[in-house]
Amino acid sequence: MNPKWNGQFSRYDLVARSGENTRSVVRVRDIEIGGSEFVVMAGPCAVESEQQLLQTAEHVAEAGARILRGGAYKPRSSPYAFQGLGVHGLKILKKAREQTGLAIVTEVMCKEDVEVIAEFADIMQVGTRSMENYSLLEALGECGRPVLLKRGMSATLEDLLRSAQVIASAGNPQIILCERGIRTFETATRNTLDIAAVPVLKAVSHLPVIVDPSHAAGVRSLVPILARAAAVVDADGLLVEVHPHPEQALSDGEQSLTFGEFRDMMDDLQPYLALRERTVQSRPRLLAVVGAD
Ligand code: PEP
Ligand code: MN
Repeated sequence: MNPKWNGQFSRYDLVARSGENTRSVVRVRDIEIGGSEFVVMAGPCAVESEQQLLQTAEHVAEAGARILRGGAYKPRSSPYAFQGLGVHGLKILKKAREQTGLAIVTEVMCKEDVEVIAEFADIMQVGTRSMENYSLLEALGECGRPVLLKRGMSATLEDLLRSAQVIASAGNPQIILCERGIRTFETATRNTLDIAAVPVLKAVSHLPVIVDPSHAAGVRSLVPILARAAAVVDADGLLVEVHPHPEQALSDGEQSLTFGEFRDMMDDLQPYLALRERTVQSRPRLLAVVGAD
């Protein structure tokens, strides 16, 4: 173990990697996140209508996604922006699951909404703005669903693991970490994808780690190439925004892929997933290189 990391992370004992617990798998329906499969979660930023979501669900499922994303409760920076369809959006997500068999991941922003969202969702997403909403994290300890915990846009990896520890100590060990880009001085991209976060988190924690290239990039042209990087660094999957007509999207259209672009991205990933396969075989050695053992 890198001595710098040792004291820094090991105090979050429920989520830290240890001799007995090197890797945990989060099971969602028939899907294993953190196992050998690279699990792709895709869909629109926000659920806008039944037609938009069902169409997207069909296309992403056909292209190989296993989990459908879509916000029904949206954390918008402006009070005038579309705030999401709420319970109506949750019902549309449920219908999409029934029609396609995809599992559902959707965002929860406050503890008051945990119960209703847990009725519909397979995975509860905590967004970057909520990573330090401790009353929400505590409530998620008892929600009975896995939690997808996004890294705060100004959070260190230690901050992220501290939040994961809050959820775990409140009773829920089923946590997936998500690197979605952080704020830096760079403005050419919406955020800066911290690709090193993936191997570091995997070295110090047993939790699965996925990458969201959409919110990191902020522009769709960069999403497929960042997805390649995620595969090669042995991330456990992706969270990607896809929209039938990105130019008409009510949120995050600039970074959303069209159906065709998503299919091309999935095809393009194949050789990188083959490389990842090799990485999976050599995980113990690679983790030793980055300092875990
Ligand atoms: C989202 O997934 O649409 C979202 C709001 O993400 P983030 O919290 O990473 O900004
Ligand atoms: Mn979004």
